[in-house]
Amino acid sequence: MQTYLRDILQQSRQAALYRTRLVHDSPQNPILLIDNKPYLTFCSNDYLGLAHHPQLKIALQQSAEQYGIGSGASHLITGHTLIHQQLEQTVAQITKRERALVFSTGYMANIGIITALLDRHDAIFLDKLDHASLVDAALLARAKRYRYKDIASLEHLLAQSTEKHKLIVTDGVFSMDGNLADLPAITQLARQHNAWIMVDDAHGLGVLGEYGGGCLEYYGLNATDVPILMGTFGKAYGTFGAFVAGDDLLIEVLIQKARSYIYTTALPPALVAATQESLKIAQQEPWRRQHLFELIDYFRNKANHLPLMPSMTPIQPLLLGTAEKALSVSKTLYQQGIIVTAIRPPTVPQGSARLRITLSATHNKAQIDQLIETLTHILNE
Ligand SMILES: *Cc1c(COP(=O)(O)O)cnc(C)c1O
Repeated sequence: MQTYLRDILQQSRQAALYRTRLVHDSPQNPILLIDNKPYLTFCSNDYLGLAHHPQLKIALQQSAEQYGIGSGASHLITGHTLIHQQLEQTVAQITKRERALVFSTGYMANIGIITALLDRHDAIFLDKLDHASLVDAALLARAKRYRYKDIASLEHLLAQSTEKHKLIVTDGVFSMDGNLADLPAITQLARQHNAWIMVDDAHGLGVLGEYGGGCLEYYGLNATDVPILMGTFGKAYGTFGAFVAGDDLLIEVLIQKARSYIYTTALPPALVAATQESLKIAQQEPWRRQHLFELIDYFRNKANHLPLMPSMTPIQPLLLGTAEKALSVSKTLYQQGIIVTAIRPPTVPQGSARLRITLSATHNKAQIDQLIETLTHILNE
């Protein structure tokens, strides 16, 4: 086994795909401390800067006093507290749906939803850029998989599929590209071909739309257009966990059948209380979104000589091509006190390695200036 394991590592090093973890010692801020040295970072998904908001900390502490730490059991045993129930109601309200179901993580939500709804007689249509958890869910469901690269190819694949049920699954905002799915076109195709739609809006919720209602609010789509909406709390909402929102029937079926919901310990109640608070703040403090979008505009204007991608969201990747190049620019930035992660295959397609810059409402313009100046210098050399 040792030889086999060493070979695996050797191969990923040779392909510039070896992955390492950064150890830091600070809350989620634009400035992270590593070995007591400050680094300016553009990597976090804490888009609204809620991850260490004082009110979230208080909510968590108070709830920990009342409920303790562990939930003690799964939801169907005795892990489901009043706080979990209330969070479901809040999410249902925010997403304008009958009900919601809270999962421990987004990864598990996707696995649970898709495996509960599809089996090997069904078809699933996945965007080429869909998140890995959706692809894994499709594999586990053993449904026939169709990957589409654009709306025309989706239409073609829908027309040729003969399986019993058809589910189209897409990220709302693509996590490595930052662009939006063309949901109006997808919903129209779904109607024509009698297909169901699920949107994973992990990167849109809290960020897009006047009220932070995500891609659906942005496009003006409702629960009839997109009956299955999945979202996470670990990104814009700054906490941890995930949900699916839909009608009563859907949620009831998921409670009966979603194995990654049934066979796991419920989230700690205190975390759920913190999420309640963060949903409230995300709605009550629209300045966070306004400031964030000002920064996005500022960044795109000032960086227009760099290889930007067509994104209007806080995800602003720079397309660099090879894994080696992305890695070397990322390393040079690091030496100069700036952290931007290199995203390499298999997370993105071969030849499209990139620096994934993400902006947050906690950044300021001077920090963006510093990033662009340093990057321009490095890329010119
Ligand atoms: C982050 C992410 C997930 C997974 O959510 P976790 O709560 O981190 O497990 C799922 N889908 C998309 C599109 C994501 O970006």
